[in-house]
Amino acid sequence: MPTTEPERRNSADGARPERDAAPAPRRVFLETYGCQMNVADSELVSGILRRAGYERTAEPGEADVLLVNTCAIRENAEERVLGRLSDLLRHKTERPGVQLGLLGCVATHQRDRLLDRAPYLDVIVGPDGYRDLPDLLRQNDEPQLELRLDRGETYAGLAPDLAPGPRAFLTVMRGCDKFCTFCVVPFTRGRERSVPVDAVLEQVRAAVAAGKREVVFLGQTVNAYRTDGVDFAELLRRTARVEGLERIRFTSPHPSDVSDDLIEVFATVPKVMPYLHLPLQSASNRVLEAMGRDYTIEAYRALLERVRRVVPGIAVSTDVIVGFPGEDESDYAETASFLREARYDFAYLFMYSARAGTRAHRLPETVSESEKRARLGELIALQETIGLELNRGWVGREVEILVEGPAKRPPAHAGGKSPTFKTTIFPASDVRPGELIRVRVEGATAHTLTGVAVAV
Ligand code: SF4
Repeated sequence: MPTTEPERRNSADGARPERDAAPAPRRVFLETYGCQMNVADSELVSGILRRAGYERTAEPGEADVLLVNTCAIRENAEERVLGRLSDLLRHKTERPGVQLGLLGCVATHQRDRLLDRAPYLDVIVGPDGYRDLPDLLRQNDEPQLELRLDRGETYAGLAPDLAPGPRAFLTVMRGCDKFCTFCVVPFTRGRERSVPVDAVLEQVRAAVAAGKREVVFLGQTVNAYRTDGVDFAELLRRTARVEGLERIRFTSPHPSDVSDDLIEVFATVPKVMPYLHLPLQSASNRVLEAMGRDYTIEAYRALLERVRRVVPGIAVSTDVIVGFPGEDESDYAETASFLREARYDFAYLFMYSARAGTRAHRLPETVSESEKRARLGELIALQETIGLELNRGWVGREVEILVEGPAKRPPAHAGGKSPTFKTTIFPASDVRPGELIRVRVEGATAHTLTGVAVAV
């Protein structure tokens, strides 16, 4: 760290003894895997460590502390994480004093095995333990673990270091009570708890003051938000009153928690963008029941119809898993048929793979890998066609784009999202992230709109 001005003067005039220079800030390298909630957790960790005197570095070779924030959702997460940790281990070996830590869902999911398999780890901290991270990093004699769940941690009042760009991702609730049989989240992130409404609104105001134009509220079942007598619909209404905020989105809601009042908010609060993610998982009641989803396809269909009736033009996306144990040809055909009927704007399509510790892990797999792949391929092709048809419906219309920055390609284009969350690119060389630009749509692919800026 450079010597400060007063210290330089002291040592130059020789009249007073030279003071010790302040210790250099410790540098932390933080790598994130997984979903948007994990990215938001890393922003939180970054804020906690910065306030404890750490600086971020993008270079592992410069870091005093190397942290990997992990995700247990994907298959073989443990193996991939251990692989990455052993890459980073050389920095610890080469430079004594460097600390290496594991954060996130894998920490809680694999707690019993991690110390055996990675005894070199200095800290292992689950999603509810980040507040203690600076203290844990100070104790370097033996591995420090903080893996408790369910202690009501919401991190209220701890400001995250928001990533650049016009959009702020803010976690408003943590954990999940749903216990879908295929999912590790209730075991890795604990029970549902919501950030107090005043703390959320304070973060929104801080985000706006930092130049953000849009907030995305995050939670595993975000619309289960409830605290101090305020439910999710009311949280959105109060958020919309924050001056300077232009857009509000959220992910990921659960169909069973979509209330009529929430649908009403879409229709009546202009800042709440007309886009809803509504995870389906399967359209077969038999499979839904085996998955522990607490709705039937009839209830889901009625909900989707209600949403589209009250909010005409709303974009809807979904998640689908193919090849769940017991899913036969007719179950799969129901799902494919429902995708044709529902005509989602986007769909996140996955092949089932068992996760240790879940109830479904004990079920015998009945669908071969090749069959799963075939079903997935068919649904991808189907959804591409639907997505393209829906996007072509935008050609000739105008949309307001919140500019995110230069498009990856082609050169001299900018990109951003329309209200319905369509990625839209248009020729521009002088727009700034955060600007709202009206664009006339002239072309479409299954995933992107293209157009030109129009004068307003
Ligand atoms: S709702 Fe189901 S899939 Fe979503 S986080 Fe909770 S348990 Fe997992």
